[in-house]
Amino acid sequence: MSSGAEVVVVGAGLAGLSAATRLAAAGVDVHVLESGGHAGGRLATERIDGFVVDRGFQVLNTGYPRAADLDLDALELGWFERGAIVRVDGTAHRVVDPRRRPADVIGTATAPIGSARDKAALAAFSLRAGYSPVGRLLAARERTAEQALRAAGVGDTALERFFRPFLAGVLLEDDLETSSRYLDLLWRSFVRGSIGLPAEGMQAVGEQLAARLAPGRLHPHTAVRAVAPGSVLTDDGRWAADAVVVATDPGTAARLLPGVEAAAPRQVTTHLHVLPGSPWRLPLIVLGQPGSRLVNSVVLSDAQPRYSPDGRALVASSTLSPTREDEVRAEVAAAHGVAPSDLDHLTTVTVPGAQPAALPPLQLRRPVDLGDGLYVCGDHRDTPSIQGAMASGARTARAVLRALRPTTPPDDRRST
Ligand SMILES: Cc1cc2nc3c(=O)[nH]c(=O)nc-3n(C[C@H](O)[C@H](O)[C@H](O)COP(=O)(O)OP(=O)(O)OC[C@H]3O[C@@H](n4cnc5c(N)ncnc54)[C@H](O)[C@@H]3O)c2cc1C
Repeated sequence: MSSGAEVVVVGAGLAGLSAATRLAAAGVDVHVLESGGHAGGRLATERIDGFVVDRGFQVLNTGYPRAADLDLDALELGWFERGAIVRVDGTAHRVVDPRRRPADVIGTATAPIGSARDKAALAAFSLRAGYSPVGRLLAARERTAEQALRAAGVGDTALERFFRPFLAGVLLEDDLETSSRYLDLLWRSFVRGSIGLPAEGMQAVGEQLAARLAPGRLHPHTAVRAVAPGSVLTDDGRWAADAVVVATDPGTAARLLPGVEAAAPRQVTTHLHVLPGSPWRLPLIVLGQPGSRLVNSVVLSDAQPRYSPDGRALVASSTLSPTREDEVRAEVAAAHGVAPSDLDHLTTVTVPGAQPAALPPLQLRRPVDLGDGLYVCGDHRDTPSIQGAMASGARTARAVLRALRPTTPPDDRRST
């Protein structure tokens, strides 16, 4: 069978959908071929025993510039508090953003995450990342995340009890070898935004974008085997297209497009448990302790009650290396101050290619136009995040429009 389209997008993750919806809005005849069964790619959600279970713990950060592309109200987000719980010698301490929770200023100021100097360094680091112009952040000397935090005056205690476990849960690496430039951009989004979970799970983000395409434009269960200028080969036949956008995961993009390199993938294992009720008053992430395999553990249903069918608490606990549930159950229980026997194991998932590494030198805005009508987008072209995926999709749509609609005024193209 052979089909034709002006543009074929390979992959219905956030990058591919961001590109496709912008192209469709500009009047381009675009089709999206997706090997899996759902829209959203790495944002995948299933229901288990009535609980909303995302494929690995992830959140939507409204501080991402591209969050503006989403209808956040329609996602019915449930919110986390900004901050974390740090356990030291069995006692739980809240470290929260004092701008949001002035009543907790004293608790945060006295939390055992280092000296007053450490806390001042944390505040100064946050102010700089949150409010300096992006250009200035990107012009700053680049080093590893750990070197940057130390240069900002963060001492050992704050590093080991707060920054390392907090960032390990986001960067999916605990050597803090990630680029300081990515750390700055990430921290900026935490300072400026809030983090939440959609009522129907993270997959709802991708489904919202996919719903902007006309019926019949998204083709699930259609794996692409090869691409070439002007053509795409699937198991069902060949598509002819003026432009082909490869918006797959980095490894597949590197296989389909020999000139594209894939950064090392980061992996994460997430264990889901059910508790009879939440042990906490506030929706906060509990950080893993130094030496613990857990990087964090969190009662998801405290932030988004719709993740639970009946008021029981849904807990997600993550480790960087693959772990069995029985290896971490005691650590999960200790994190929440409950007995191991209170935890009912729901499921465990390991995601091997959760996100690509972002080591120095950070290659922001890697080329998306490969020539000959071939384009590539995905988190590996910008930053390993929802923001990076959506930004790369937007950039790719602009590049495709420049080629296919050269007479469209640049201002109109920019609005895509
Ligand atoms: C557990 C986990 C936690 C995360 N936490 C966060 C977080 O808290 N915040 C954050 O910002 N980011 C987080 N991320 C990263 C974020 O989810 C990704 O960066 C982003 O979703 C990547 O989108 P993408 O479109 O680039 O790629 P993908 O989502 O991987 O989309 C690629 C699509 O291409 C399809 N595909 C692959 N091969 C083919 C083929 N041959 N033919 C057709 N289709 C194909 C795939 O099925 C997929 O749908 C997390 C990721 C995971 C997995």
